[in-house]
Amino acid sequence: MIQSSLTELAAALQGKLVSSVELTRACLSRIDTLNPTLNAFITVDHEGALAAARAADERIAAGNAGPLTGIPLAHKDVFCTEGLRTSCASKMLDNFVSPYDAHVVSQLKAAGAVLVGKTNMDEFAMGSSNENTYYGPTRNAWQQDRVAGGSSGGSAVAVAARMVPMATGTDTGGSVRQPAAMNGVTGIKPTYGVVSRYGMIAYASSLDQGGAFGRSAQDCALLLSAMAGFDPRDSTSIDRPAEDYTRDLDKPLAGLRIGLPTEFFADGMDADVRLAIDAAIAKYRELGATTVEVSLPNAKLAIPAYYVIAPAEASSNLSRFDGVRYGHRAEGYDSLESMYEKSRAEGFGAEVKRRILVGTYVLSHGYYDAYYLKAQKLRRLIAQDFQKAFEQCDVIAGPTSPTVAWAIGEKSDDPVQMYLQDIYTIAVNLAGLPGLSLPCGTGANDLPVGLQLIGNYFDEARLLQTAHGFQQATDWHLRSPELG
Ligand code: GLN
Repeated sequence: MIQSSLTELAAALQGKLVSSVELTRACLSRIDTLNPTLNAFITVDHEGALAAARAADERIAAGNAGPLTGIPLAHKDVFCTEGLRTSCASKMLDNFVSPYDAHVVSQLKAAGAVLVGKTNMDEFAMGSSNENTYYGPTRNAWQQDRVAGGSSGGSAVAVAARMVPMATGTDTGGSVRQPAAMNGVTGIKPTYGVVSRYGMIAYASSLDQGGAFGRSAQDCALLLSAMAGFDPRDSTSIDRPAEDYTRDLDKPLAGLRIGLPTEFFADGMDADVRLAIDAAIAKYRELGATTVEVSLPNAKLAIPAYYVIAPAEASSNLSRFDGVRYGHRAEGYDSLESMYEKSRAEGFGAEVKRRILVGTYVLSHGYYDAYYLKAQKLRRLIAQDFQKAFEQCDVIAGPTSPTVAWAIGEKSDDPVQMYLQDIYTIAVNLAGLPGLSLPCGTGANDLPVGLQLIGNYFDEARLLQTAHGFQQATDWHLRSPELG
């Protein structure tokens, strides 16, 4: 059962071959067995999950179940859940219980999905390895001395280790795609504005976007269809009709034009990753797609632009955590100012503090034009490059990450090395485009490699179709680590 697709699970539930309570218990017991090692979950809600499963079983019995009713789900701990702790993997919010649900959370509750728990992540979604967390690093599902990838590492590992069949994440610069790649699962980040940010704790608001993890593109399509949709409570939510992202899955790949950016295939990619990516591209050609070289000349500026814009927004967003309105308050202060200072000094981890300092600096008077404004101009150029490339192709393909998962601790002392891991993913967020990562092979130490597909605005259905076509012809997405 733990290897079944969402479609198979839904059919089994609706055919009464299994109940949601049984399915939920199976997931909870797998989590109880594996989580002490993998550390993918920060909070597991046994009681709440079983109550939701019982309600789902009643709904199924009454004949009004949807495709996700009764299916266990995990949320990244960045999504506010009413009555269940939302920590953002920070000491600052270790004791925070939200009085309301994020839009994504309420959408999935309405769909009848069963929330089993909240997953580990980099603190406030800042990181690429899932090591920047108050609760200890999440471990890669395939090799436990390796990083999970980040920032949504817990969700990727939870799906890869078959602890849950589906999970949510967020992607500001690659945080859905990169951990999906490193754990051999599929993950999609839609066009900016497709998934409401209401109740999703903000890191860099103009880049943050909720996304979906599943074992396959088909599973991601089902989950994304339930998460997405207009929400008037998020001013950047896009007012478009809801979509069924499974609608094009079975369209053939023949005639699809895949753009291969020169810059993605120059230096930078490890040789083992390159082999797997080249093989995947060859497979696409075999399946009837054509490839064309495209250019993203400004993509190399994406990391510097991002590390001005994202910290700038973060420094503003995180100012709300002051020991008064939310979260941790230090003891033993002697003035209002020292209370703020001590609370923030104690509550935030080193990477979060680094970003706040950088963000405050680039926004300060005298530096704003030199850094922030310049970065915004680069952002526009990067978005224009993509539009030009899409004149020649339907989707863009390349690696998700330049390397397979590295050893825990290996890059933690070198922030710049860590930032460079997002070299292929970050430009997509700056442009607001949809991106997907699917498992396409293995590299050194048999660790998973992810192929990244990038689409034009609102082309999620085509990205999912492109991934699904590959998954119909290959079995990388069906492989799972041997665990417990
Ligand atoms: N690794 C990037 C960062 O640290 C992206 C993280 C994300 O997408 N949330 O900011």
